[in-house]
Amino acid sequence: QPITTDMATLTKEVQKFARDKKLEIETLKIREEYRREFLGNVSHELKTPLFTVQGYLLTLLDGAMDDKSIRKKYLQRAEKGVERLIYIVKDLDMITKLETGDIHLDLSRFNIVEVIQNVFDLLEMKAAKKNITLTFDTKYAKPIWTLGDREKIQQVVTNLVVNSIKYGKEGGTTEVGIEDLIDNKIIVRITDNGEGIEKQHISRLFERFYRVDKSGARSEGGSGLGLAIVKHIIEGHNEKIYIESQFGVGSEFSFTMEKAK
Ligand code: ADP
Repeated sequence: QPITTDMATLTKEVQKFARDKKLEIETLKIREEYRREFLGNVSHELKTPLFTVQGYLLTLLDGAMDDKSIRKKYLQRAEKGVERLIYIVKDLDMITKLETGDIHLDLSRFNIVEVIQNVFDLLEMKAAKKNITLTFDTKYAKPIWTLGDREKIQQVVTNLVVNSIKYGKEGGTTEVGIEDLIDNKIIVRITDNGEGIEKQHISRLFERFYRVDKSGARSEGGSGLGLAIVKHIIEGHNEKIYIESQFGVGSEFSFTMEKAK
């Protein structure tokens, strides 16, 4: 009798071992798939600016270098391409850290009004190039104290305002507003009257590398990671992010934050 019991136990153990292994292999397969897809997207994103830089350098080497005015123009364009590569690599670094949980929030009490003003100061030139007016109601002359990671919230506001400029129309406006909510929360809204987003894209916008305009032909294309980074940061704060958009009319991105005493 002891022998048969042992056999039964052994069989059960072997079966359990096999099940565990199968699960482990499936997890590894999913991870491998994820890694492959991620790398595919990364090389795709890097290709365009790299080819742009290479193009200008080759043209310069091919003789354009002899013309002083062309030389400067092409070097500036090559430099813009490098700048774009740096942005993409920074975003990749950030999303990798956020997705692997390898990042911690440095929480403090800070004035959200000041953060928004900083972002406006940094992006004024970019907006002016498209004749876009950035408005932040003057009623916010007073500080609004919030709790969070100041630097990361500034990144969130930056990404959202940058998008409102990128996808905004010539001569348009970006408006930032803050409202009180119940439960000691506020909501920050970034509203534009730009191109808007068709319904079928909205649920996927926060996926990394997801873009409405797949061609990537857009001259101002970012990394396709901006909104994925925004979502991770806001959800990392246990807060919420919302989109409302009407195609051809404009979009509003908003997120909640906790007020500090
Ligand atoms: P990127 O701007 O680098 O493509 P994002 O993650 O920031 O990547 O945005 C993803 C996509 O969402 C954009 O490609 C664009 O199609 C759409 N989008 C984001 N913000 C806006 C906006 N304010 N108005 C219209 N479309 C937007």
